[in-house]
Amino acid sequence: MEQVDLFLLNSDEITRVQTRLHLWYKQNCRLLPWREVSDPYLIWISEVILQQTRVDQALDYYQKFVTQFPTVVHLASADENSVLKCWQGLGYYSRARNLHASAKIIATHFNGNFPKTYAEIRQLKGVGDYTAAAICSFAYNLPYAVLDGNVYRFLSRYFALETPIDTTSGRYEFSHLADLLLDKENPALHNQAMMEMGAVQCVVKNPKCELCPLKDSCKARKYELVDFYPVKSKKIKTRNRYFYYFLIKYKESIFLRQRSEADVWRKLYEFPLFEADFSISSEEVVQHESVQKFLKNGFLLKRISNVKKHVLSHQHIYAQCFYVEIDEVNAYLLDNYECVGFNDVENYPISRLVEIFMNEYLEM
Ligand code: SF4
Repeated sequence: MEQVDLFLLNSDEITRVQTRLHLWYKQNCRLLPWREVSDPYLIWISEVILQQTRVDQALDYYQKFVTQFPTVVHLASADENSVLKCWQGLGYYSRARNLHASAKIIATHFNGNFPKTYAEIRQLKGVGDYTAAAICSFAYNLPYAVLDGNVYRFLSRYFALETPIDTTSGRYEFSHLADLLLDKENPALHNQAMMEMGAVQCVVKNPKCELCPLKDSCKARKYELVDFYPVKSKKIKTRNRYFYYFLIKYKESIFLRQRSEADVWRKLYEFPLFEADFSISSEEVVQHESVQKFLKNGFLLKRISNVKKHVLSHQHIYAQCFYVEIDEVNAYLLDNYECVGFNDVENYPISRLVEIFMNEYLEM
């Protein structure tokens, strides 16, 4: 199959793609609140929320977040638990921690004013090439081309590019192509159009190519190889993990600890947990020496939940919760966990999984 020579893309073709794309965008774009603003802080928040999150879910979180923290100064002066609480249920909590840390940097080093150059914005925690380009173009109309999953997919299909997108050469090639195509007079409009194209027209499964404004010149369509693109070099390995939680009721309280390890849900709170590398029986779980540390003074097992599968990008967590009651607290529990009254649990940021088990308990 013929391969496009990126260096030979002529200006007529570039202009034709830009014109059709921009017109299509103006006629088809979704109205989203972060597209109505040019405040870099609001754009930054929306871009970070949109990473790994569907737009319909992002809408609610965006409104909630910017209502609670309307400016970068509000975010910088908030305590971390309230930021994580606002993020609760959205997943990938490092995003919230990085937003908070970066807001503090902006408050301290930029006097509370959002930085204005690509280099300064790229230095913020959790801000990669894509997010820096998005903020620079959408807020300041600076000529930086965005390259997210949607843009990769659209470009790889339109030009039938076989270079795997998850390789260094792939990233270089696609980045070069996105730069070549960028309308430097209208970078904000152009970037929005490229991303929207991948998000609503050139979608992962069954794109409606007959409705595409670029169908006549799309190479993947011409060769009937739309499903073949984008090419990836490797499959992501998925790790299975088995979590056995213990919701331990003592009088009108339960026990929580903050996760501190470099792992999922860092800084969120959870019940006492025993993790295994493989699925084991309930009897084995209860007898395990790690579990006996917090149950050693005796307990009453009220119920065991069904196994819940929680899917993260590189891991599948199979989780079960043991609902138990104790009459006596042992030193291990007191040393390693916070004893939290039922009415106070809602003040602690917790993962979606722990929230499900907590709600299940309240309905028992
Ligand atoms: S014709 Fe189909 S595959 Fe090609 S860019 Fe349009 S939607 Fe994507």
